[in-house]
Amino acid sequence: MRKKIVIANWKMNHDFHETTNFLRNLLKIFLEKKINHNKEIIIAPSFPFLHISNQILQGTTLKVAAQNIHQMDKGSYTGEVSASMLKSIGISKVILGHSERREFFIEKNDILLKKIRIALKYEFHIIFCVGETAFERNQNQQFNIVKNQLKETVFHCSSDEIRFFYIAYEPVWAIGTGKVATYEQAQTMHEFIRSLFLERYGESVSNKISILYGGSVNNLNAKALLLQKDIDGGLVGNSSLKLEKFLEIIQS
Ligand code: PEP
Repeated sequence: MRKKIVIANWKMNHDFHETTNFLRNLLKIFLEKKINHNKEIIIAPSFPFLHISNQILQGTTLKVAAQNIHQMDKGSYTGEVSASMLKSIGISKVILGHSERREFFIEKNDILLKKIRIALKYEFHIIFCVGETAFERNQNQQFNIVKNQLKETVFHCSSDEIRFFYIAYEPVWAIGTGKVATYEQAQTMHEFIRSLFLERYGESVSNKISILYGGSVNNLNAKALLLQKDIDGGLVGNSSLKLEKFLEIIQS
């Protein structure tokens, strides 16, 4: 049985005080066992607050992820952050391939493959995002797009390396738009993604790989989404910024 997972992607939101207050309050609720859940919880704050976030949550089941890493190990890349730097402050999870990185920072599949390589070198767990745009769905190209995104990146990895991955299906048209995929659209794509893993790596890997849905997940739709057979959790943006809403999602 795959464990359900909820990942909060805070993007460029929450300053120092908002980050630390949120995490301290969340931790208090967890330690006082005020909520009932059996999910893996991961929070992805901004770079400057990863260290303090990790310190606050140290020794608990709540984990911290970075939202990005640079593809090079070190060197003259002004303004960038390397996997080894993050590792040195105890971070070992990272989101890669998010559609905002693909769109605004022109991260194509070749760059993403380099990022995967460096992340694996430092034994990061990778939350790898795939998904089609509205235009591509209207052209009925969603399955080809997602297949290609995986073929040119994740599928270069060995079956042994796949244990470091979570896949997040995030249709671009559903991210931050309030337009969630129907349960059927999401389940169909998740089943398709699992079938690609079956074809590439065999049954054991495809049964184990966690495939999360992302795109306007909120406290009202999370439960039904997470009930779908191949949906193993949610990657949550906006609705993870408010503690009350996030707690509801965790408990759904
Ligand atoms: C995201 O950016 O990963 C995301 C899913 O955002 P939202 O939940 O706001 O659609």
